Amino acid sequence: MPATAVTQIENFIDGEHRPASDGASEEIVNPATGEVIATAPLAGERDVDEAVGAAERAFAGWSETVPGERALALLRIADALQARGDELAELEARNVGKPLEAARDEIPVLVDNLRFFAGAARTMQGQIAGEYMSGYTSMLRREPIGVVGQVAPWNYPLFMAIWKIGPALAAGNTVVLKPSEQTPLTAAVLAEVCAEHLPNGVLNVIFGHGETTGAALVSHPTVAMVSLTGDVATGKAVAHAAADSLKRVHLELGGKAPVLVFDDADIEAAIEGVKVGGFWNAGQDCTAASRVIAGPRVYDDFVSGLAAAAQSLQVGDPFAEDTEMGPLVSQSQRERVEGFIERAPAAAEAVTGGATRPGAGFFYEPTVVAGLAQDDELVQREVFGPVVSVQRFATDEQAIEWANGVDYGLASSVWTRDVGRAMNAARLLRFGTVWVNDHIPLVSEMPHGGFKQSGYGKDMSIYSLQDYTELKHVMVSLS
Ligand code: NAD
Repeated sequence: MPATAVTQIENFIDGEHRPASDGASEEIVNPATGEVIATAPLAGERDVDEAVGAAERAFAGWSETVPGERALALLRIADALQARGDELAELEARNVGKPLEAARDEIPVLVDNLRFFAGAARTMQGQIAGEYMSGYTSMLRREPIGVVGQVAPWNYPLFMAIWKIGPALAAGNTVVLKPSEQTPLTAAVLAEVCAEHLPNGVLNVIFGHGETTGAALVSHPTVAMVSLTGDVATGKAVAHAAADSLKRVHLELGGKAPVLVFDDADIEAAIEGVKVGGFWNAGQDCTAASRVIAGPRVYDDFVSGLAAAAQSLQVGDPFAEDTEMGPLVSQSQRERVEGFIERAPAAAEAVTGGATRPGAGFFYEPTVVAGLAQDDELVQREVFGPVVSVQRFATDEQAIEWANGVDYGLASSVWTRDVGRAMNAARLLRFGTVWVNDHIPLVSEMPHGGFKQSGYGKDMSIYSLQDYTELKHVMVSLS
């Protein structure tokens, strides 16, 4: 692992790097070792107010730019992020604990995402102008909303920041971004990059905790829209806070993705899919393949095959070349995972894993749990760790009923060789994404977002861009 100096990062407000106005800061820890790697400011109400004020002033100019100008700025930011890709991947590996290779793989994808929004800004489409009432021409305008407060999680810090700022800036809004208090490092580099390519105040980045800095941002009267990626409970708190001033709300929340493995599936492929999709980023993924629902004839082979696959995962130092899974992001996240396993009912069996790893860092074994009932907590609630449950279904109808029988609705997958069965499941599943014979790939052109308590509003795609605009009807009398 490269030597680490303790970095001191600052808020980025109105084009300037600034400490918190009261000087408050806290230490940021490497989850693989527990060592302090940085200090980050804790922005207070005054800092939030300054950031929002800067964004409000910048909105007048940025919202008047033509799409081509905004696209050019986003393309330049994408190029600069690409050029600093190795540095960004290292920061992400050190701050989140994800394997360096996995962090490197994120860079071209998030760069592509920003480039997609640069292009999409210039192609916004709608109904053509026309006469819908005799004597009048009607037309539609899509306009930016204003200052958008954006709050990001710790599992993909830079990725989620890009999913947020890309469409918001492309549509002509200005932004105040608050990354997770646990993972601020790549957002600080993003601010540096944006300082070179955006007018002052168009993107502001403030650091601090959710209940203080985040709450001040989402309830600020000048903020016209709030966008959160985070836990369901946080989504509810943000929606409540936004209700007072009827801000627009965009919520990408948790998930509990079912993986339906029918008896006719390619079992080896399904096991490999869950090995990757269930333990990627140590299972700290909103679309994690965390809940397998397997057919009666393949269940036993699936459980033993998945257990062997989980045991084969190389867990360890994120900077070691062969590491496939790093630690959890924090001690409290590891305690959360331990709690789920400790509370599991007697009938449940940890076929593999189910324990922490001794030594430094917040490591937890890749875990497969069998013998669970549909209403068990491990089936119903997002663990957000390397824990995959496997249930045995009796009929196709029961598989769909169990898959849909949770509060979440973000992502799901279906594994079968029967096209009709796959199409029927895709129709019936109440999830924002249904994969067939795969689990986890996403593309910039397609929307990502939840049904039910996984939230509302879409990330990526033209639909995300639309979420960050307001539709205006202009009706012109022809007389
Ligand atoms: P979290 O809800 O604890 O925190 C998310 C962000 O919200 C952080 O920046 C935090 O500081 C802030 N926050 C917390 N309370 C707040 C409040 N009252 N007001 C304003 N901001 C507040 O979530 P997390 O633990 O950082 O991330 C994990 C969660 O994110 C999981 O549930 C995961 O499924 C979800 N997630 C969803 C998606 C998606 O696309 N749907 C993507 C990634 C993560």
